[in-house]
Amino acid sequence: MKRFEIKLLIDKYALHTDDNKMCVKGWVRTKRGNKNVIFIAINDGSTIKNLQVVVDVAKFDEEFLKNITTGACLCVCGQLVESMGKGQCVEMLADSIEIYGMADAETYPLQKKGHSLEFLREIAHLRPRTNTFGAIFRLRHAMAFAIHKYFNDKGFFYWHSPLITASDAEGAGEMFRVTTLDLQNIPQRDGKVDFSEDFFGRETSLTVSGQLEGELGAMALGKIYTFGPTFRAENSNTPRHLSEFWMIEPEMAFYDLEDNMNLAEDFIKYLISYALENCMDDIRFLNDMYDNSLIERLRFVIDNQFIRLRYEEAVNILQSAKQKFEFPVGWGTDLQSEHERYLVEKHFKCPVILIDYPREIKAFYMKQNDDNRTVRAMDVLFPAIGEIIGGSQREDDMTKLVARMKEVGIDPADMDWYLDTRRFGSAPHSGFGLGFERLLLFVSGMSNIRDVIPFPRFPKNATF
Ligand code: ATP
Ligand code: MN
Repeated sequence: MKRFEIKLLIDKYALHTDDNKMCVKGWVRTKRGNKNVIFIAINDGSTIKNLQVVVDVAKFDEEFLKNITTGACLCVCGQLVESMGKGQCVEMLADSIEIYGMADAETYPLQKKGHSLEFLREIAHLRPRTNTFGAIFRLRHAMAFAIHKYFNDKGFFYWHSPLITASDAEGAGEMFRVTTLDLQNIPQRDGKVDFSEDFFGRETSLTVSGQLEGELGAMALGKIYTFGPTFRAENSNTPRHLSEFWMIEPEMAFYDLEDNMNLAEDFIKYLISYALENCMDDIRFLNDMYDNSLIERLRFVIDNQFIRLRYEEAVNILQSAKQKFEFPVGWGTDLQSEHERYLVEKHFKCPVILIDYPREIKAFYMKQNDDNRTVRAMDVLFPAIGEIIGGSQREDDMTKLVARMKEVGIDPADMDWYLDTRRFGSAPHSGFGLGFERLLLFVSGMSNIRDVIPFPRFPKNATF
């Protein structure tokens, strides 16, 4: 008998067989009933909605039915009929049930409902089976798909920067080392580790960003984007940092900072609209369960222009704020999350793009302004999250770039490959990085970044 996915049955229920006899397969979410009839809610992951299976107890062996508990996996064949009950349009009258796998009621961790997110994090291998994580991971998929669609429709090319890199220009100190050296017996030369013995014949790490190699793509293909994992060994145990996270990094030749900001704003708005148009069942669930202003907040971001503001003006606002901050602010200080959130949530009540940061607190590759003290950086700040995007126009002047590298202690000879983009056919260009999980925090309304990635990696946690 033909098997149907529950999403198809519930969303488009005209598509049935002649007599409406069919199979569904999935996991038991709840089971209730009485001596005569049992109702089993079954979910196959295709949608947040469950299909109700109605079991006429007289037609089955009672001992067999006892084996059907929450978490068990079933194949049910029967007739799909319109439902009289509220909460569903169709239900299935079971003719036959096969149990693919039982789930012992005494030991199955998701037997009871209403577990805390903290507890579920400890069983990350099972939490996708809950309504909440089903919704989040379907949303995660939809956002990944929408990202590719957005860029493809706009003529960008998907570019793969390497994950293993020999460059430590960006992430000195926060990179995970990649090595096959025997850690019990490390080869030494002149009192230092001899990396010439290592797999690549030199020191290598996992990348903290695909940008520098992305620039090489933009200087040939015009507009590219990367979308891949990045790794940071920073010891930040915050609800907004992961050690392994995914980043989207578009890089565009001939874009100045203004074009870059326009792209970033349009991109985020597109993604949020896509979520509202395509994932409403899941978003509504998250809205109702966790954060009842979620939908309103998503609509607000689409409907309003982001505020654009120079760093200097932001510092002035923060200095005259009545609120006391843990970290003091002044020209030249890096803004902390508390400052970013004050601007967005209290002062403007709107997403903010901050530009023209002091040169000293930003990366060496950002284009220097004529004032000699700021660079064409842009950070997009969001409510509840703080920085969601970091980007800039890139320095395209070879002389200035080399001078800046030396100032921050990077040997230009180590990055000759990068300098070739400026040496040969240099062009104005810009780009940014969007943290995929920070986007998902915003779209799902979750408050901890560990809850929007299937297997979160953070300090002292690499199992589940
Ligand atoms: P933050 O100041 O929030 O630590 P950052 O300035 O180090 O971020 P960038 O290097 O600009 O971040 O990276 C670009 C984007 O990647 C950020 O805007 C953010 O969305 C995301 N991001 C950065 N670090 C992390 C992390 N550890 N976990 C998840 N996302 C991150
Ligand atoms: Mn940043």
